[in-house]
Amino acid sequence: MNNLAGKAAEDYICLYNPIMENVTLNANIPITLTVIGSGDAFGSGGRLTTCFHVKTDSHQFLIDCGVTSLTGLKQNGIKQEDIDTILITHFHGDHYGGLPFFLLEAAVYSRTKPITIISPPGARKRIEDLLELLYPSTKVLERLIVDFKEYKPYESVHTDILTVQAFPVIHTPAALPHGLRITVGNKIISYSGDTEWTPNLIQLSHDADLFICECNFYKLKIKGHLDYETLKQNLSSLSFKKILLTHLDTEVLNNISDVDLDCAADGMVVDL
Ligand SMILES: [Zn+2]
Repeated sequence: MNNLAGKAAEDYICLYNPIMENVTLNANIPITLTVIGSGDAFGSGGRLTTCFHVKTDSHQFLIDCGVTSLTGLKQNGIKQEDIDTILITHFHGDHYGGLPFFLLEAAVYSRTKPITIISPPGARKRIEDLLELLYPSTKVLERLIVDFKEYKPYESVHTDILTVQAFPVIHTPAALPHGLRITVGNKIISYSGDTEWTPNLIQLSHDADLFICECNFYKLKIKGHLDYETLKQNLSSLSFKKILLTHLDTEVLNNISDVDLDCAADGMVVDL
């Protein structure tokens, strides 16, 4: 209470953003992010659907698990059984449609290690329904230890190693779209999820070590998605140490030589 510097920092955070939780940064640990999938829902440019793999000295997690993720993980030499946690931004197939296959492999190969899935509310029911449609009467979740953790807008979910803060974004409302601000060790990885421009991206990306931002289009204005032209117009309001554009469709890929921000590519490795 007598720590004036600490109080000043608290006040700053409250003034800056009354909804952003003051997350304690922990030890400096090596963190490696591998882009598993940087494409849109349609495999534009031959890219896989959204998935990022993050590895620390003691933990591995995925940010989104699009339908091609299990293939992408294997292309990068990453094993399903080594993944501890999966974060999901919203319920579109190119962001969570890989979960049935991931979990099916885990069940078939008798995975005993628990796995945590952090998502908007309702993941268990959706995954049960998907599994029943894709692999009828195949018991999957019953054979695994899955801890479903749900976040709500502006809330945080904590695990032993992660704090995940969820910000609502502007995309198909029924898919419960969120951007995620992930604290791991002393680093912050922010990911927009799928969204058109929203001021919530300012809070989401604030001082992030890595801000992964969807940039579905170059200058096409399509509801629920961001384009490079709009992102550039708002760039001065964002603060981050490094940005990677992702969820790239054919139009932006055709103009990629005119994009002067770093773009994700499948297999790209970023050390944080
Ligand atoms: Zn989406």
